Amino acid sequence: MLDFAIIGGGPAGLTAGLYATRGGLKNVTMFEKGFPGGQITQSSEIENYPGQAEVVTGMELMEKWPEQCQKFGLKHDMNEVTNVTKDGDIFTLSLGNGESVEAKTVLIATGSVPKSANIKGEKEFFGKGVSTCATCDGFFYKQKDVAVMGGGDTAVEEAIFLANICKTVYIIHRRGEFRASPHEVEKLKNFDNIVPVMNHTTEEIVGDKMGVTGVVVKDKATGEVKTLAIEGIFIFVGRDVLNNPLKQEDGSFLCDVNDSGEVIVNLKMETSVTGLYAGGDIRIEAPKQVVCAAGDGATAGIGAIAYLQ
Ligand code: FAD
Ligand code: NAP
Repeated sequence: MLDFAIIGGGPAGLTAGLYATRGGLKNVTMFEKGFPGGQITQSSEIENYPGQAEVVTGMELMEKWPEQCQKFGLKHDMNEVTNVTKDGDIFTLSLGNGESVEAKTVLIATGSVPKSANIKGEKEFFGKGVSTCATCDGFFYKQKDVAVMGGGDTAVEEAIFLANICKTVYIIHRRGEFRASPHEVEKLKNFDNIVPVMNHTTEEIVGDKMGVTGVVVKDKATGEVKTLAIEGIFIFVGRDVLNNPLKQEDGSFLCDVNDSGEVIVNLKMETSVTGLYAGGDIRIEAPKQVVCAAGDGATAGIGAIAYLQ
């Protein structure tokens, strides 16, 4: 029986593991379906993590986090947690390999995944010109024309990353103003090869057997429709929380969630179920920042120790 089971190895899960093990818990396992580090490992540039004065990639930022936790005894199980239930005081976690484990306390820190734009051609050409990770796939479009869809921090930051590799980067946004922070938007001015296509909706991604050849956009004011010739399109239209392990057989959730599926917590990261914590991007009102996710993890780790005592 585990004292503390952590689901997700991003900044929230890793920090919870650090605090729980360093705080004296002996039997703590972090379940991570991929490599630890979380979604930030897909980012090309971090400049707002306190104490990290030089700009680094997400991969560089997260490199040492697992090593630090393991030093204090955190175990890493490379398994997906498919389901969590509670019977009496004990939680049961079903794992991707068909096994199950029991735990006295649980943190769900599974973060989020890129949202689909739900446009024609998106699914058909996924992996053949459609991508949700510029750091992973940008290199394939060296000196080629690409588009970025979205107007948030991710779209703007990753458009800048792509501008250093690609010939032209169209940034297609449905409104006249970016949602991204003014500091990021200001940087766009330094790139002649970034072409904002504002107030345009993305109608369809078109292509052939080889992959994407263009994107059809529509001017919201005039209704004019045109096709931008591109070989790649990066979709950054927000993220969906990964709450699927909390879904119960009857379709309800193990704990209270809001309309967007985000887990409702209090300031101690406690959910509506005793012994179950949630932290990072999956929780309500998450600022969606590495430092905040790490803070949630620390709070949950400290909470788990207190609960077990
Ligand atoms: P995540 O980082 O999403 O980690 C969750 C982990 O859980 C993942 O590793 C996933 O594989 C794992 N997992 C999911 N489901 C399961 C399961 N069922 N079983 C086992 N494992 C599971 N923030 C900043 O502060 N500064 C930035 O500059 C910045 N730039 C960003 C750039 C990009 C491109 C993106 C996408 C995000 C950026 N963010 C930035 C936001 C930041 O990455 C997130 O706020 C943060 O990573 C959230 O941490 P988390 O631990 O809650 O979740
Ligand atoms: P986001 O902030 O939710 O922005 C999503 C963007 O996509 C918005 O501009 C939105 O348009 C647009 N959009 C949504 N659905 C669309 C659709 N169906 N069709 C066309 N456009 C659509 O998402 P994000 O940029 O991925 O950022 C997620 C969170 O992570 C944010 O809180 C962000 O601040 C954080 N983050 C932080 C950093 C950083 O600190 N440097 C970097 C990356 C991400 P509207 O604007 O019209 O709604």
